[in-house]
Amino acid sequence: MKCDMCGSPGKLYKAVIEDAQLAVCHECSKFGKVTGVVEQIPDKTIQKDAKREPESEVMDIIIDGYAEKIRKKRESLGLKQEEFAKKINEKESLVQKIESGNFEPSIALAKKIGRFLKIRLVEDYKESHEKQTKTKTNSFTIGDLIKIGKK
Ligand SMILES: [Zn+2]
Repeated sequence: MKCDMCGSPGKLYKAVIEDAQLAVCHECSKFGKVTGVVEQIPDKTIQKDAKREPESEVMDIIIDGYAEKIRKKRESLGLKQEEFAKKINEKESLVQKIESGNFEPSIALAKKIGRFLKIRLVEDYKESHEKQTKTKTNSFTIGDLIKIGKK
C-alpha cells in the first residue's frame, strides 16, 4: 500500500485531509487530521508449524542390579546355571559372567533372559534417568555430606 498523496510506501495513517478520507504516510498525515492507522494486511507467508517436538530418543539400557536379579530368579525357579544356560541357548560360562556382574548382556540377550525368567531387565533410558534423579535427591542427606567431608 502506498500513500494516497505522495505515493511513498510504508506505514499508512487514516487521515482526513480537506474533507477527504485518505490513507497517507506519516509525512503527509501532517496536512490533515489523523483518525487512525491503516491496518497492514499481513503477508500470507506459510506459517511454520509450531515448535516441532524433537522425537524423544528412547534408549534401552540394562537395569542396575541385573546380575543379582537374574541369579535370584533363576534360583527361585530351581535351575542350575547350566540348566538355565541350556534353556536360553547360551553358554554356561556366559551365564556365570552375567550373574557375577562381569558381563553386561546385550539388550537382545537381556530381553531374552527377561522373557524366560519373567523379569524386567531392560528399561528405557529416559525413565531410568528420571528415577535416578529422584532417588538421589531423596536419599542424599546431610549425613552423607559429612561422611564425604570426613574422607
Ligand atoms: Zn505521503
